Amino acid sequence: MLTQRPAELQRIYPAVQPHARLTLPTPLPTLRFMLPIRSEGALTGRRPTVTCRVGEVLLGSAHPVAVQSMTNTDTADAGATARQVAQLAEAGSELVRITVNTREAATAVPDIRRRLEEQGVRVPLVGDFHYNGHLLLSEVPECARALDKYRINPGNVGVGGKHDENFRRMIEVAVEHGKPVRIGVNWGSLDRTLLTDLMDANARRPEPRPEHEVVLEAIRESALRSAEFAERCGLPHERIVLSAKVSEVGDLVAVNRALGAACDYPLHLGLTEAGPGMKGTVASVAALSILLAEGIGDTIRTSLTPTPGGDRADEVRICQQVLQSLGIRRFAPQVTSCPGCGRTTGTVFQELAARISAHIQERIPQWRESCPGVETLRVAVMGCVVNGPGESRHADIGISLPGAGEDPRAPVFVDGKLVATLKGDAIAGDFVRMLDEYVARRFGAGVRSDG
Ligand code: SF4
Repeated sequence: MLTQRPAELQRIYPAVQPHARLTLPTPLPTLRFMLPIRSEGALTGRRPTVTCRVGEVLLGSAHPVAVQSMTNTDTADAGATARQVAQLAEAGSELVRITVNTREAATAVPDIRRRLEEQGVRVPLVGDFHYNGHLLLSEVPECARALDKYRINPGNVGVGGKHDENFRRMIEVAVEHGKPVRIGVNWGSLDRTLLTDLMDANARRPEPRPEHEVVLEAIRESALRSAEFAERCGLPHERIVLSAKVSEVGDLVAVNRALGAACDYPLHLGLTEAGPGMKGTVASVAALSILLAEGIGDTIRTSLTPTPGGDRADEVRICQQVLQSLGIRRFAPQVTSCPGCGRTTGTVFQELAARISAHIQERIPQWRESCPGVETLRVAVMGCVVNGPGESRHADIGISLPGAGEDPRAPVFVDGKLVATLKGDAIAGDFVRMLDEYVARRFGAGVRSDG
């Protein structure tokens, strides 16, 4: 047994006395390569890209990762679609995509734009085209004008000679109207000609590669070759965004790493057909987080299967939370609360945590107007003294509720200092009041947000 501390351990934990007797097994594999841990608390490095302007939104590595979503209304119903676009924009969607699948839908697009403008909603509208986009964009020029970007799926523009002809026509319309294009490849509708060519070439190799990998290569190739073709048709390099969507987390990561390494176009990320509810949410978050942590991705979406009566804007909030959790962007104050355990007293802790979150949700629209920077606020609501005071000190304002068997008192910390100890039945109301006062004092008009 080892009784003397390794020099590296001693350097890292100087506070521990050198003579402290540690009984550690030999060898110590986990201590061999101990290096200083460095963290800025945020994952903000980005893969370098050009900047693509979509309406008033700038996409690319020099700009914030944008959140986007897509309507599920019938686009031909201009009223319903404009309402849902406005709801998604209100929730924080910075781009909204609408399907443009019929002549009626294309004709409705200018009406949707007009309705949004009447409400003061300026979110860029992206038209999603499949099969007949070349016809709709050519025959309904007011639709082509009203949209801010066209999404073209190179797997759904026709086959053989028609493929290039139709694709070229859509690009020509984009050039004519000065619009950017997202070339969005989806493995559910991959260009069959390209895939067949790559599969045939693979079969001729002395040692063919797994078909699955060839499919991923075909997705990357489809995006890159289409972008190259679009540029040959006159579309400027900086008016192109690429996406490569698959439905498995590992595949999404692999194909976007490969695509990102091969070009400097901004990338739109999203796990396609992610599924419903928790499964879709977790899978999307897992995939997006890996890529965003590597600096890959300039705009994101979570494509959740809707539940009856569900809120479409949830997909927007999930994207925001991913970016906020990674420290990439801030959208709203962050509430840190513990999961509770046998030390929490009844439901008091759960109720307070829920009440604080609801209060912030309710106040945030007004705070955004009157308290710039409030989205950086960190609030802690903790269940007992085990981690409560420590976590509260790390937050801007935090409360540590009394756990089971503890004194019925709740210390409140502001900017790391104990400022009050709340008691009695009004703890929740008192803490909410202190929170409001703190926000007004620190972020109120004319007050610096860095306190
Ligand atoms: S802070 Fe206390 S109540 Fe919360 S999980 Fe930890 S021990 Fe349990």
